[in-house]
Amino acid sequence: MKILIVDDSSTMRRIISNTLKTIGQENVVMAGDGVEGMAMLESNPDVELVLSDWNMPNMNGLDFLVKIRETKGKDLPVIMITTEAEKANVITAIKSGANNYIVKPFTPEVLQEKIGPFLK
Ligand SMILES: [Mg+2]
Repeated sequence: MKILIVDDSSTMRRIISNTLKTIGQENVVMAGDGVEGMAMLESNPDVELVLSDWNMPNMNGLDFLVKIRETKGKDLPVIMITTEAEKANVITAIKSGANNYIVKPFTPEVLQEKIGPFLK
């Protein structure tokens, strides 16, 4: 199952992909912001789950989420990854069609729990 990781921090992208590896998910593609994320979804129509950061340049996570829902409908699960301070924004994200959210920093167990329902 292919997973798209979108985060402007290369360190965070690596942490997320390494964590996914520990739970058996090795098929990942990555992007640094929402603009790159949309391009990645175009070139990888087989992506079945998106994990997206909130704060990013060019196109932030919320705008990315809205764009996904506009262009791809509701079928592609999107999980937002946010910091504790941004937790209030999560309500907005859920209203905008996010399937779930993860608060940074997170353990592999939390990641597994949050993405579990969407794994194939
Ligand atoms: Mg960020």
